[in-house]
Parts: sequence; structure tokens; C-alpha cells
Amino acid sequence: METRLLLPTKENIELTAQALANGQLAAIPTETVYGLAANALDGDAVRKIFEAKGRPMDNPLIVHVSDLASVKNMELVSEIPPKAVKLAEKFWPGPLTIIMPKGKAIPNEVSAGLETVAIRFPSHPVTRALISAAGVPLAAPSANTSGSPSPTSAAHVMHDMSGKIPYIIDGGICEVGVESTVVTTVSDTPMLLRPGGITLEQLREAVGEVDVSEAVLFKLKEGQKAESPGMKYKHYAPKANLILIKSDDEKYIEYVNSRKNDNVGALCYDEDEENLSVKTFPFGKKNDFENQANRLFDALRSIDETNLTTVYGRCPETYGTGMAVYNRLIRAAGFEVIELA
Ligand code: AMP
Ligand code: MG
Repeated sequence: METRLLLPTKENIELTAQALANGQLAAIPTETVYGLAANALDGDAVRKIFEAKGRPMDNPLIVHVSDLASVKNMELVSEIPPKAVKLAEKFWPGPLTIIMPKGKAIPNEVSAGLETVAIRFPSHPVTRALISAAGVPLAAPSANTSGSPSPTSAAHVMHDMSGKIPYIIDGGICEVGVESTVVTTVSDTPMLLRPGGITLEQLREAVGEVDVSEAVLFKLKEGQKAESPGMKYKHYAPKANLILIKSDDEKYIEYVNSRKNDNVGALCYDEDEENLSVKTFPFGKKNDFENQANRLFDALRSIDETNLTTVYGRCPETYGTGMAVYNRLIRAAGFEVIELA
């Protein structure tokens, strides 16, 4: 299959929206990461997403809408819980996905057989224009091969999806850079299932108490259930063995430099670069978590363009947007952390 890379002109948005409405796939930019979209109301179209990504069928997809009204009108959910209303009013359009009881219109392929469905109203103007023009909600997971870092540029999508899908819309670099925050409102107390651009602190400010799923920060034990199916899979890992180093700046630099050889690299903060004597992959400024989120996946992908065997990474903070960065990095490192006293 030939993959066409299109700029988001009016004509191209119309062309792609038609293709989506007719059951084809398209990779589309959003403010979080690039999504691989299909008509969310068409089970056969949605199935193609799982094939193109190699995604396990038990990992449900997020349904994207371009207005709040269609969530109820189109029977995407059976009910909008009061806390979901509050969260939607506060954070939509934006990088927040809300889990609600599933409505009649949602095919099993989207919800992976669960009784709930994940809904998001994105803020990116191109995403919104595409959903409106298609006239249907779009199911869209990240547009990467399952297990790889999520794509934050059209080039990343091309790398993973070339020959597998008909269209990629190039909307430049994604602003947030990590996938949406996922929160469920099906439980009495809302629970954070995946951290993202909307922080835990912001959620708590909006609706009071919010629990945090254990899988956000810790490795699940054998047989332990993941509240969000996606959290049980190995994810984002580069080919090289990535090990996180929890320490201050000086000890990190000393540790990495003492292990210098041709096969060793460093996934570091910008400020570390000048002091490191191995190949560096800077993923952001030390105290700027938004900048780290924005650049992390590109840095992880660039490790894969080398033949390094071991990469030592900085261990990010776990508050604010840092929690989203930590959640991705700890998975990329297979939960391997060395703490230097
Ligand atoms: P992605 O599409 O790559 O952004 O991944 C979507 C994430 O949302 C995955 O971690 C899914 O497991 C999670 N998700 C989607 N639908 C549900 C749901 N109904 N309940 C819990 N988690 C969900
Ligand atoms: Mg994904």
C-alpha cells in the first residue's frame, strides 16, 4: 500500500475525512501524540488499527469527539457521571481522556469487550476539523507500532506505518508530546490510570479526591490486575538496555563517565551534556517537565538509530507533568533503577 503524506490543507482534510468515514485508516496529528484513526462506530474499520499497529485486541481504544453534545447524542456512553461532567467542563478540549460507562453505539473492538469506554475531546484544530468533517467520532490510539515510543512527528509515523496505511497528515511536532491523561469516573472516587499533560494536582483541584492506579508508578506483580489494560504491556523500550539512575547531577555524571565505552550512551538533561563523555541523548531541561514530555519520545527513538547496548537515563521527578515523564521512562527501562546514595 502506498502511504501518502499530506499537509493539513482544507482539501486534504476533506479527502482524509471522507476516507475515514468510508472505513479507511489515517494517521492524524493531535496535541498529545499522533493518532492512528478510524471511524469509531465501524468495528471492521477499527479492527484495521489493531492489525496495522500489531496491538493486542484486549487493549481498548480512545474515542475522539469534536464536541461535548455528541458524547450523549450519538450514544457513545450510557451515562455521564457528575464528576465526568466537571472534568469535561474544566479540561476539554484538551489532553484528558475520561472513562465512562459504554453506550450502545460503541463496537466491542473499541472497548475490547469492557463495559466502559474512553472518550477525549482534543484541542488540536486539525484533529477537530477532521472529526467534524468525517461526521463520526474517531477511535485513535497512538500511531506507532505496538511497543514502540509514541510518534510525536509525521516522520516518526512514517517510520512505523509506511506501507501499512493510506494517509498521514503532517501537523508538525506535537505540543504535549506524551499521550493523554486517562482518568476513570466509573468508580466512586475517580482514579488516575495514566498520567499525561493534565496533572494529578489539576484533577484533584477540579474534583477533590482522585486515586492513583498502582500501575502508574510501580511494576505490577504477577497476576495483579491492571485497571487500564494498556499498562500491563512492555512499552516504549529502545533496543539498548536502558537503566535509570536516581541520584543528584554530580553522581549521575560521575557514574556514567566511569562506564564510558563505545557501547554506552546517556539519556540526560540538557544541562548534563557538556559534562558527559559518552554519546548523549538530551530529553529536556532539568526542571522543565513540559519540555521533557515534549522531547522524550524523540530522544528514545534516536537511541534506536545507534548500535549502543547500554544507556543510562536520568530518573525524572514524579510530581506535576514529571509524573507522565516518569511513567513512560520507567516502562522504557523495564523498571530498572539504580539508586546512588
Ligand atoms: P493509546 O490509545 O495508545 O493512547 O492507549 C489508550 C490507553 O487507554 C491504553 O492504556 C488503554 O488501556 C486505556 N483505555 C482505553 N479504554 C479504556 C477503558 N475502557 N478502561 C480502562 N482503560 C482504557
Ligand atoms: Mg499507545
